[in-house]
Amino acid sequence: MKRVYNFSAGPSVLPESVLKEAQKEMLCYQDSGMSVMEMSHRSEAYGKIIQEAEQLLRELMNIPSNYKVLFLQGGASSQFAMVPLNLFRKNKKADYVNTGVWSKKAIKEAKRYGNIRIVASSEEEGFNHIPELDSTKFDPDADYFYIVSNNTIYGTRYTDLPDTGEVPLVADMSSNILSEVCDVSKFGIIFAGAQKNMGPAGLTVVIIREDLIGHAMDITPTMFNYKTHADANSMFNTPPTYSIYIAKLVFSWLKEQGGILAMEKRNKEKAKILYDYLDQSTLFKGTAAKKDRSLMNIPFVLPTEELNKAFIQEAIQQGFVNLKGHRSVGGMRASIYNAMPTEGVIKLVTFMKEFEEKHAK
Ligand SMILES: *Cc1c(COP(=O)(O)O)cnc(C)c1O
Repeated sequence: MKRVYNFSAGPSVLPESVLKEAQKEMLCYQDSGMSVMEMSHRSEAYGKIIQEAEQLLRELMNIPSNYKVLFLQGGASSQFAMVPLNLFRKNKKADYVNTGVWSKKAIKEAKRYGNIRIVASSEEEGFNHIPELDSTKFDPDADYFYIVSNNTIYGTRYTDLPDTGEVPLVADMSSNILSEVCDVSKFGIIFAGAQKNMGPAGLTVVIIREDLIGHAMDITPTMFNYKTHADANSMFNTPPTYSIYIAKLVFSWLKEQGGILAMEKRNKEKAKILYDYLDQSTLFKGTAAKKDRSLMNIPFVLPTEELNKAFIQEAIQQGFVNLKGHRSVGGMRASIYNAMPTEGVIKLVTFMKEFEEKHAK
């Protein structure tokens, strides 16, 4: 069996060395005599794994000591409710920027619990850019300000963070966490589903400033209260033990690669290879506005639906898989997370050039 180049938006490619390490430890983790999957989450051996995972993440992201790291379940989508339930602690008002499917879902959910105002939106232009933000229009009485830092489906990302003053900034970082340097102290909450850039599905990481914990609305279910998990060090109930273990291996791998600054540099090089090609191609076209282009998810289209189809089919035969775009955008999307080697992007571009030569008139 040959491994393919997997451009899936998520669950997505993992570093091969991580998979090999997991394979090596599959039957017997160190001297425990069992697989990590079979371990009590309260055992000493597992305690070390989860603590090391947290320690590595803190080191990689330089997380200040007044922030808690929580390992939760329920996907990033559960955070769409958990954020308002926990942060509507004063005026039950929040500002949201609408930049795609994931912000829309978050807005819809948050509206159940309070007043949601859309400060800016790029919906009319098909979410192909990040809208201009004017901080004088932000509500200073909002309980929080919400953004999706990287829009997985439309391939846009914030290059500047909004200045929200005293209002806590909340970011859904599911598809770009650990891809570039980020100053955690600028955020009230950062959350991310693991299955894009951190590990397997089943784990959701929440990084939260301590003063935002402990003010949940009365109706908040115990499992949706950040305090429940913060007080119990993510061990209130059984955490997603194996996903956390794999994430720990991914964090170690990132450290070996030189950390986030080194990853950012590599990610920028990788994205540039593909964008440079798209910018000069007469057949392929990138769909996101240049100033806001994502380093992780790169959507592009061909002139006709037939060509899109043909490209995706031929790509699969050549070992480039999961290039089909999201159903709401169509065309193609190459997700090139941390674990996608530069070589994978170079080879994809070579294949695209061949396709262009064959099909250009
Ligand atoms: C994938 C994704 C989600 C949804 O994540 P789940 O873990 O499946 O709930 C939310 N936000 C963004 C930005 C995503 O890319």
